[in-house]
Amino acid sequence: QVKPQGGDALAFFDGELQFQASRRLLLAHELRDALADDQFELYFQPQLVHPGVVMGAEVLLRWRHPARGLLGPYEFIDFAEESGMIVAIGEQVLRKACRQLALWQQQPARAQLELSVNISARQFRQRDFVQVVQGILKETQIDASALKLELTESMLVDDFDHVVSKMQQLQLHGIRFALDDFGTGYSSLVYLKRLPLYQLKIDRGFIDDLLRDENEQAIVRTIILLGQTLGLEVLAEGVENAGQLKALLQLGCYHYQGFHFAKPLPLAEFEQFLQQHLATLHRL
Ligand code: C2E
Ligand code: MG
Ligand code: MG
Ligand code: MG
Repeated sequence: QVKPQGGDALAFFDGELQFQASRRLLLAHELRDALADDQFELYFQPQLVHPGVVMGAEVLLRWRHPARGLLGPYEFIDFAEESGMIVAIGEQVLRKACRQLALWQQQPARAQLELSVNISARQFRQRDFVQVVQGILKETQIDASALKLELTESMLVDDFDHVVSKMQQLQLHGIRFALDDFGTGYSSLVYLKRLPLYQLKIDRGFIDDLLRDENEQAIVRTIILLGQTLGLEVLAEGVENAGQLKALLQLGCYHYQGFHFAKPLPLAEFEQFLQQHLATLHRL
């Protein structure tokens, strides 16, 4: 016989739900404030090409929370996506990135730098996504071939022709596309071939075990070969040590980013990194 649920259990459940709901409400308010008060900051993680030339950076979002300090995307990006606020946040990130490119493109020593910006599925899915990006390009007047947009496999489950058409419209401006976290999703190879991609980013989960696990190594080798076959640039993310770098070079992957070179850096530190790095290269 089933006992009737105790009142206490229900009360607890209610309390927990209420707690969750009020937390979400608070976060929603805080994110709106963050947008209005300019609390989002871009961090820049250097991206290099063998033998160590800095091509540019991946833009990674940070939230300078007034009470909780500097927060990484894992603290808020899922909620921003669910609540739809990622659309406005993502637009701000893109605008800031393009403004930065505009500044660099006026300086001969930095004019060649490229930025890679993460685009959320919800943001890409917006009906006016292409128009928004075009507006930012017009506003900032950048050479858009310095801009790469990082998409994920999760976007490809949508109306495929529609996705391709959006990419093509942006490609006309010179924008290039990377497929982020490659290997973790379910993209069919047929689709992959039809997408106007420029770069495949090997998920850092595979790089992590590269030296320990032969299966992992076989996967990475396969991804690199696949990229080469499709004429794509292949970049490894999450390179943390010299051993991993060596293994990647042996497998034919010459583009990389990771803590072995630099963590995501605030602008001033990224620019410092560029200069120090250039000095080291000249000494080689
Ligand atoms: P992602 O695009 O795959 O970015 C790479 C993540 O790996 C970054 O985490 C980066 O700091 C981290 N990483 C890079 N090298 C290493 C390494 O050598 N070792 C380790 N352990 N980690 C490394 P982060 O900055 O916390 O960003 C997490 C995710 O949040 C990103 O993954 C991306 O999916 C999302 N994200 C970040 N910025 C944005 C944004 O502006 N818009 C959107 N929609 N998503 C963003
Ligand atoms: Mg990324
Ligand atoms: Mg990634
Ligand atoms: Mg990711």
